[in-house]
Amino acid sequence: MAQKYEVRQMQQTQQVKPNPYENALEQLRIAAGYLKLDEGVHQILANPKRQLTVSLPVKMDSGKTKVFTGYRVQYNDARGPFKGGIRYHPGVTLDEVKALSAWMTWKCSVANIPFGGAKGGIICDPKQMSQGELERLTRRFGAAIAPIIGPYKDIPAPDVYTNSQTMAWILDTYSTLEGVMTPAVITGKPISLGGSLGRDKATGRGAVYTTVEAAKVNKVNLKGAKFAVQGFGNAGSNFAEILQTYGAKLMGASDSKGSIMSKTGMDADKLIAHKEKTGSVVGFPGSQQISEKELLQMDVDILSPAALENSILPDIAKGIKAKIVTECANGPTTPEADKILHGNKVFVIPDILANSGGVIVSYLEWVQNLERNYWTVEEVNSMLEKKITSAFHDVHEASVKHDVDMRTGAMIVGVGRVAEAVKTLGVFP
Ligand code: NAD
Repeated sequence: MAQKYEVRQMQQTQQVKPNPYENALEQLRIAAGYLKLDEGVHQILANPKRQLTVSLPVKMDSGKTKVFTGYRVQYNDARGPFKGGIRYHPGVTLDEVKALSAWMTWKCSVANIPFGGAKGGIICDPKQMSQGELERLTRRFGAAIAPIIGPYKDIPAPDVYTNSQTMAWILDTYSTLEGVMTPAVITGKPISLGGSLGRDKATGRGAVYTTVEAAKVNKVNLKGAKFAVQGFGNAGSNFAEILQTYGAKLMGASDSKGSIMSKTGMDADKLIAHKEKTGSVVGFPGSQQISEKELLQMDVDILSPAALENSILPDIAKGIKAKIVTECANGPTTPEADKILHGNKVFVIPDILANSGGVIVSYLEWVQNLERNYWTVEEVNSMLEKKITSAFHDVHEASVKHDVDMRTGAMIVGVGRVAEAVKTLGVFP
């Protein structure tokens, strides 16, 4: 049985599908095979529950009216209210939003938090828009999706080119329409509006907790272990700052302006300060500039791709020396490269597990809002550690049981829990 699906997986890796939704369906098919899913349940999981497309007329600064298109896809809510970010990008498509909403469903399930999955997007170029135009677009979108969101229905969050200010506008729009201030309708809010302490560093911190467990499993001593980070932004720099508190040494880092390495190691806090001051990691005192390929293939124990999707390609994967790859970024490894890493016994902590710290603390933010009771950063971090550590072991156990890599293990756990909920709910009417 396992062999049959290995073959299917190989076929998948040989033909990379440009359509992200087809990729998501193929991943679902692989997990369904291991789980021996009932065909009806598989069909339910292969279709979003609701897809909303909205037209958004916005008065531009020029005085003209422009109509934008926005989407909210609610994939599955069998385990709890829909949850997922909102992305502003010229390249947004309905199929992309559908795929992202499916991945959110599996991610929340792997993290074992009581949420389903959703995603939203607006086709727009935020870099070409003023703050006023962005605010009017956001409020119009908030009003358009207001009937289907809510603290017990669907809780959006930030994603690409949206931030805590965007969330504040949606919160205000929804609360004005409802006539009651409703902080729990959205997460990733500013602290002044009920955001959670610890949310800003949650993704990097969660990725460190999964790396700590991976180090134990792979007998890597973190004290003195060497690591490199591609993409020294929010997720990557926090990952570096927190991992070094375990005694690990940052040997290389990069951003969109270039890659650097140091033979003696770099202090992550000083590198963060340097990037804040100069706008890049490049030029950090004591470092030398290298190519991106050299960075990814450095002689380190741990490598974290924390920039964009598709940065680890087959050619790069062949030369990766790290024993552990912690995917802070979403989709950094192509399917072909994944196969090579697995063959070379590189232990990959897949994105839906490694970067789930963000959504776990979003869940904690939502609970605090509903309870009107706020926790200290230590309390938040400790709950994050407990949840993500337990998720790591659930995935690791599944990967050992089915003799598959951690990515397939994560899909088996994520899809398995949602399938169980769907099956138990039954089919209405
Ligand atoms: P960010 O914008 O703060 O950081 C991205 C960094 O990558 C920047 O420093 C940028 O200069 C760098 N970069 C861009 N192109 C690069 C290239 N070609 N080579 C090297 N570096 C490059 O974004 P972020 O929030 O840290 O997100 C990074 C990744 O983590 C994304 O894939 C995102 O989806 C994922 N992620 C983030 C969160 C979160 O809470 N921030 C949660 C889940 C997943």
